[in-house]
Amino acid sequence: MRRRRIWLGVAAGTVALEAAVVASRRGRLLDPHTVVRCRQGHLFTTLWVPGVSLKALRLGWWRLQRCPVGRHWSLVTPAREADLSDADRQAAAQRDLPVP
Ligand SMILES: [Zn+2]
Repeated sequence: MRRRRIWLGVAAGTVALEAAVVASRRGRLLDPHTVVRCRQGHLFTTLWVPGVSLKALRLGWWRLQRCPVGRHWSLVTPAREADLSDADRQAAAQRDLPVP
C-alpha cells in the first residue's frame, strides 16, 4: 500500500514536471499542436499532452514516435517555437494524426 502511494507520487510528479517544462517552452500549458523535431531534423505537428501518449513510447522528455515525414521511427522532442521559421511552421502544420 505504501509502495503504491510512493509510485503514484512519482508518476504525478513526473507529469507535473513535464507540464511545467512544456508550459515554459511553449508559453501555454497544453498545446494540441506541438511542433516536434525528429532526430533527423524533420518537423511535424503532434498532439503532446503531458503524461499521455497512445502512439508513442515515453522516455521522459523524449518520445519514440513514428516520423510521418521520413516514415521512420525516431526520438522526437518539442521544438522551440522561436526557432521555427514560417516555412517550418507551415510544413509542420499539415502532418500527424490527432491522437496523443
Ligand atoms: Zn524524421
